[in-house]
Amino acid sequence: LALILTMSCMLIIMFITLSQSDSSILQNLIIEAIDKRALKPFYQPIVVPEGNGYRIVGAEVLLRWITQSGNVILPNSFIPLAEQDGLIDKITEQLINNVLKQLSSIELSPHFFASVNIPPAYLEKTKVAEKLLRKISKSGLDYRVISLEVTERTPFENIEKAAKTIETLRDEGMSIKLDDCGMGYGAFSYLQSLNIDTIKIDHMFVKTIGFESSNTSILDAIIAFAQTSDLSIVAEGVENKRQADYLVNAGVEMLQGDFFGEPMSFGEFKLLLERGSFI
Ligand code: C2E
Ligand code: CA
Ligand code: CA
Ligand code: CA
Repeated sequence: LALILTMSCMLIIMFITLSQSDSSILQNLIIEAIDKRALKPFYQPIVVPEGNGYRIVGAEVLLRWITQSGNVILPNSFIPLAEQDGLIDKITEQLINNVLKQLSSIELSPHFFASVNIPPAYLEKTKVAEKLLRKISKSGLDYRVISLEVTERTPFENIEKAAKTIETLRDEGMSIKLDDCGMGYGAFSYLQSLNIDTIKIDHMFVKTIGFESSNTSILDAIIAFAQTSDLSIVAEGVENKRQADYLVNAGVEMLQGDFFGEPMSFGEFKLLLERGSFI
């Protein structure tokens, strides 16, 4: 009986695999996850050095898919597909709604920001800035509580349109950050065409700190470039004190990484803020 059961299970699985491609199975699971609100914002602290420690000034919002059994699925395994089939817009909007709802339920320090990852194509849509501003204004929060991270890993199709969206948001005091700076499509041309105020240095470059005779020349060049261009800097993926000290000494204003706190649920993040925002 066990054998027959196993065989029929295998047949069913084969049937599903043959009749639907893997990606459309995943696509349906993503749709279900959106409907069931299983895609949650997690928060990773962004800090500035202060006294002997670090003070939380903001957070990056990172998506986590929490399955029914409580497993956590990381964004890299479903965001690329969601970006291809257009589901990402729905995910982004639901995420922003959640973040606004959560942040308006607590007391925030005056300049606190939550940095949300935005796919380039989203910024090219018509009226998206107005829509976002309306959402924030309805939540009762200040516009500058939301900051956007635009990755340079994927290219823009219509950069003029994205530039207009960014201009409108910057006019309202919102910060726009160039994510994964140095990793992809012409950072320098993006910085020229888009009114970006902050760059995020990828952890690949931060990793070059802290070895004997390590080569930090690219990292140093990115920092120097940002400083001469009047851009603020967030260094990502900081994992130890040595890296933190190096970056602070080099004049990097903001730091983010497991050394200060891993991405955490809103409940945990809220406790951290209530304890005084010091790490
Ligand atoms: P990202 O924007 O570069 O985000 C930083 C990634 O570095 C996160 O991975 C974070 O968990 C990880 N990280 C943080 N601290 C450390 C550290 O000390 N060491 C190391 N090695 N890694 C660290 P995560 O959460 O898996 O996200 C991966 C990527 O997925 C993100 O890269 C971003 O491109 C994308 N993503 C995440 N959430 C969203 C979202 O809501 N919307 C969109 N469109 N993309 C998202
Ligand atoms: Ca990011
Ligand atoms: Ca990044
Ligand atoms: Ca990265």
